[in-house]
Amino acid sequence: MEFQSHTQESTFHSPLEDFERVTETVEVREDPLTGRTARVADGAFVMPDDYDIEAFVGDDEGCFFCPDMVGDATPTYPEWMGQERGTRGEATSFPNLNPYGSYSNVVALTETHFQPMEEFTVRQFADGFGAALAFVRGARGHDAEATRASVNMNFLRSAGSSLVHPHMQTLVDGRGTNEQRTLLEASREYREAEGSVYWRDLVAEERGGERWIGETDGVSWLAPFAPKHHRHVVGVLDVDAAPAPDDAVVAGLAEGLTNVLASYAEAGLNAFNLALHLPDDEAMPPVINVIGRAVFDEYYWSDSPFFTVLHDEGVVATPPEEYAAAARGEF
Ligand SMILES: [Zn+2]
Repeated sequence: MEFQSHTQESTFHSPLEDFERVTETVEVREDPLTGRTARVADGAFVMPDDYDIEAFVGDDEGCFFCPDMVGDATPTYPEWMGQERGTRGEATSFPNLNPYGSYSNVVALTETHFQPMEEFTVRQFADGFGAALAFVRGARGHDAEATRASVNMNFLRSAGSSLVHPHMQTLVDGRGTNEQRTLLEASREYREAEGSVYWRDLVAEERGGERWIGETDGVSWLAPFAPKHHRHVVGVLDVDAAPAPDDAVVAGLAEGLTNVLASYAEAGLNAFNLALHLPDDEAMPPVINVIGRAVFDEYYWSDSPFFTVLHDEGVVATPPEEYAAAARGEF
């Protein structure tokens, strides 16, 4: 497996150094699977000194996902799901009122209207993933062509969430997203060329190294060589297909996620995204991606500039080796 990196130098006369000539370096890294590039550049992430979101997140007036509303104000499933809504622990699962595809689902994750990301419990995430996986099973059982599936989450507005109340979103359809197609096609090409599964080889290659983070029940966690976004962490599940809602690996997924979020909070962050890909393909096991997002406060900075939305270029300030070491302490 090749980890290719190129260093570029940028020279100018700096106002910070009495207009002396200075040379800054930027590292450009290539993802070993897709060839997608990421730049490690100082100053690519803006951190506020502090934040106060209490007034915003504390207002639960009219929230459809709070316990007194979720059973009345959210949609119910069509007949093929065999239930009106799904429930597991605190989690309630129901169709997305604003669907993104054939089978579009929401899991209201908690009974509390808001809790900081480092306060999610393993149980809450295990129940949330369990509810989402039950929906994936239902959709795939109903429609054999709905092969592409993912479970996703935006947490707080700077991560794209319109609602404060913690929730996950599941999408199952026959097309998948650009990222799902890119990863699956590259994984299939790798398997064809190497006769092995990229994700298993990646774990074997990185285990114990400087980008290795740790292990939870059935899940290996590491920082990818060429991150897609800030503090990008990947978890590779040791199963070949979407697990059943009660499988031990689901609790392992939940436990690792709480550890990753604890490391984000330790770094001063308060928002994140995740995407769990469930390709159910022999070339690619289930893989979860977690990224930190711009700190949410009143005048928060968008961390999705042209690089992210128009160039699909990862631009990060903290190298994976550095944040992997920080996250390792939580495992
Ligand atoms: Zn709420």
